[in-house]
Amino acid sequence: MTNSQLEKIANTWQKRLRLQNWNIKITFEDNLSGTAIGECDPHCEFLDAKVRIRANLPESEIELTVIHELLHLRFPHVNPGWHDMFQVHQLIGNEFETGIEMIARALQDAYKKK
Ligand SMILES: [Zn+2]
Repeated sequence: MTNSQLEKIANTWQKRLRLQNWNIKITFEDNLSGTAIGECDPHCEFLDAKVRIRANLPESEIELTVIHELLHLRFPHVNPGWHDMFQVHQLIGNEFETGIEMIARALQDAYKKK
């Protein structure tokens, strides 16, 4: 998949998640931290975000990963990567990540049936 195909998927989900007020730059990258398959780096004061998707990700996992990362922008101040509060509250961090992932899967399934 090319970067412009990736941008198209992100544009679609940006609208569905009502995130049009954000300026989102999304790209495929090789050097994500650890085993992460996606990363979202928001700058809340500018409503500006960089989203990185792991370059060798199987095509079948790309859309879900985009939805997951964009969902984080609905909670831009509550994210383990941007604050260290979840390193102290690991349980909440895990619940939050699991919640985001389940909502992303539910949304992807719901739109598939349309
Ligand atoms: Zn996440």
